Amino acid sequence: MFRKPGLSVLEAQRLCRDACGALCCQGPQVLVLDAHEVAPMRDHAARLEAELVLHTHPDGRASLRFPDHEDDRCPMLDDTDACRIYDARPTRCRAFPEGPRPGCVISSDET
Ligand code: SF4
Ligand code: SF4
Repeated sequence: MFRKPGLSVLEAQRLCRDACGALCCQGPQVLVLDAHEVAPMRDHAARLEAELVLHTHPDGRASLRFPDHEDDRCPMLDDTDACRIYDARPTRCRAFPEGPRPGCVISSDET
């Protein structure tokens, strides 16, 4: 995760929810899970009683397409736009953004 200088992880988590509305966790996007992340994601969904649609790849990875879910949102998001599995979120969620991205308030002041 790339953050603006001086921004802590906790501050970034709060900004993702309150200032951005978790834009990268919804919309016409696809989250690709590594093979070892597929079973834990199914377990999280079962525990949270969230509907989860995954498209598995021949190599064991799986695609979670937000548009397959209610309101085009990742099923791990709660009603306040917070990730319900933040501490255990998949690799790609942890890595994003990889650099300054306009419109991403934790990484850039550009809109
Ligand atoms: S786009 Fe940036 S600020 Fe918005 S939720 Fe994603 S990482 Fe957080
Ligand atoms: S798992 Fe969490 S961080 Fe990743 S897309 Fe879903 S809500 Fe966002």
